[in-house]
Amino acid sequence: MVKWGVMEGFMSEENFTRSILAWYDGGHRDLPWRRTKDPYRIWISEIMLQQTRAETVVSYYERFLARYPDVRALASAPQEELLKSWEGLGYYSRARSLQKAAQVIVERYGGELPADLTALRALPGIGDYTAGAIASIAFGIPAAAVDGNVERVLCRYDAVTEEVGTPAVRRKIAARAQALVPADRPGAFANAMMEMGATMCTPRSPKCLLCPVRESCRGFLSGIAQELPRKPKKKAQRVENRAVLLVFAGGRVLIVRREEKLLGGLYVFPDVPEERDPSALCAVLERLGVEAAYDGPLGHARHVFTHIVWEMDIFAFEAQTCADVPGGRWVTAQELATLPLPTAVKAARTHAMERLRAGR
Ligand code: SF4
Repeated sequence: MVKWGVMEGFMSEENFTRSILAWYDGGHRDLPWRRTKDPYRIWISEIMLQQTRAETVVSYYERFLARYPDVRALASAPQEELLKSWEGLGYYSRARSLQKAAQVIVERYGGELPADLTALRALPGIGDYTAGAIASIAFGIPAAAVDGNVERVLCRYDAVTEEVGTPAVRRKIAARAQALVPADRPGAFANAMMEMGATMCTPRSPKCLLCPVRESCRGFLSGIAQELPRKPKKKAQRVENRAVLLVFAGGRVLIVRREEKLLGGLYVFPDVPEERDPSALCAVLERLGVEAAYDGPLGHARHVFTHIVWEMDIFAFEAQTCADVPGGRWVTAQELATLPLPTAVKAARTHAMERLRAGR
């Protein structure tokens, strides 16, 4: 049974909120997106932070904003250039959704983010958490923003022992979080809860003895904080073996634009699943319209996505001419350095660059 509400001897919701805010006001990380109220900048930071650590986001955030200083600049950016700016942050679908949302904001809202939770939630790439974060931080709307960090804090504080992730538990945590939002400082509270989750109530070693709400934290008092939240078992990752083909001709290498959902729109080297036999790989290239001779293996690389692992064997091929390939381009070392290629093919790109620069 999940128990909610205030038990005798425990903090009221208001006291919880005040304690968290007082702790936050007493000192927190100085992150660039906390120095602004500009909805556009806050939106960009929240999208970047969705699957990337704050420390990594810091180095991309200012550079991205210098290049795309407002919604209109983002809406009209060439997609290839935008994806290049996103390189290193991963999860490229975020960049594509960001641009789609920017186009909607220009068309429907005159280039200004709407100060409305439902309208924000309807934009591409913006879920409940991000809508709540933008609404509270940028517009002062008393909306809760529940991400994994906040969920962890609340599950521990209330000693929720059910598996999280079910719609029922999710709804209860959302309602609990909403009840805690102070009408006067919703943005500061959203930041304070995220700070709690990131620095105090951390996944592996919560610093309970320093925590501002430890005296009423049921998870801490009952000694089970570290075991919470209980998560459903992760699905096993699927392993995909792929041959990555570096095909060289006339000082150039062949790249192709990926059409699949995963890494869609990005350039990669041609690859072939579950095949390593050189003559079979040559036959695949022939079907693409490229006559090439096998030139040996270049090494192995591994890339882990959320649910899939790519085990990649990289092979070199030499073609006589740069034949036309649908969705393909033959690029020099210089072009290869500036195109948006995903981190997954970083090792292959390094091999290709070395070979092109060596003039082989
Ligand atoms: Fe988290 Fe420990 Fe604080 Fe409870 S006392 S909220 S478990 S850090």
